Amino acid sequence: MRAMLLDTPRRLLRTADLPTPAPQAGQVLLRVAACGVCRTDLHVIDGELPRPKLPLVLGHQIVGRVVDAGGAAGLATGARVGVPWLGWTCGACEYCRSGYENLCPRARFTGYDLDGGYAEYACADARFCFPLPEGYADLEAAPLLCAGLIGYRCLRCCGDARRLGLFGFGSAAHIVAQVARHQGREVFAFVRPGDASARAFALRSGASWAGGSDEPPPDLLDAAIIFAPVGGLVPLALRAVRPAGVVVCGGIHMSDIPQMPYALLWEERVLRSVANLTRRDAEEFLPLAAKVPVRVAAVPYPLEDANAALADLREGRLSGTAVLVTQ
Ligand SMILES: [Zn+2]
Ligand SMILES: [Zn+2]
Repeated sequence: MRAMLLDTPRRLLRTADLPTPAPQAGQVLLRVAACGVCRTDLHVIDGELPRPKLPLVLGHQIVGRVVDAGGAAGLATGARVGVPWLGWTCGACEYCRSGYENLCPRARFTGYDLDGGYAEYACADARFCFPLPEGYADLEAAPLLCAGLIGYRCLRCCGDARRLGLFGFGSAAHIVAQVARHQGREVFAFVRPGDASARAFALRSGASWAGGSDEPPPDLLDAAIIFAPVGGLVPLALRAVRPAGVVVCGGIHMSDIPQMPYALLWEERVLRSVANLTRRDAEEFLPLAAKVPVRVAAVPYPLEDANAALADLREGRLSGTAVLVTQ
């Protein structure tokens, strides 16, 4: 099969011809139709996440069809499913047994510990394959699987916040903004100062205000989510939320947070992160996305152009989510 392969961090991916993988116990073999590109992929390529499987097929927003159901129960040949970042959990540890399988110390992640979807075929544990809402084409469904799911988990952590700030307006934010609006919240978007196209994208996606991250919002926020991997945004976000407000860091990696006065955290402001996702997030979010309905801005690239898609993401040239299309 054709695949885009990472041999070692800090190199471009290379086109490779690999044997089609054989499903192991509990796994299904999928023909990949589309796979979303995520900022986490850049962190893996840049060596900012410490222990990827190597060589590695990246990609954890996989839309595919079952071609071999193996011995896995419940999935028929031909079924369309989505595969997210969380690829396997132990099911036995205290986190798995208490609703926090996202924190399972033995968890295995798609496109990191397990080969992912930058390829024509991929194997996945059937328990971590999700049916996708019918109204979405393959291309549009892919971004729901990480941008959508992680964004939704971040949004849940904001409780009933009515005035919501989003710092960094890309793939996840454009989905979260639409869900937040559907829930009756007001969205304030913070983009790179001077980035007019990101501001316009935010306003098109449902934000009622969009400005530079160096600007104060017109009103104090009840909560804010930081999607950009920039630690310097943490004090800015804390400054923008009201007492008892929440700031959620949604990325898997962030540059260092600068020293800041305690006064920014004082008055019971909460600063927290979101790590990975649970199956419950997927079971709640995917039907909700269809109900809103979330309109996904997907930018297609042929599989072979994965390096160009990653470069466009890195340079902030995308309005929406880059998606590799393999058929
Ligand atoms: Zn576990
Ligand atoms: Zn991701």
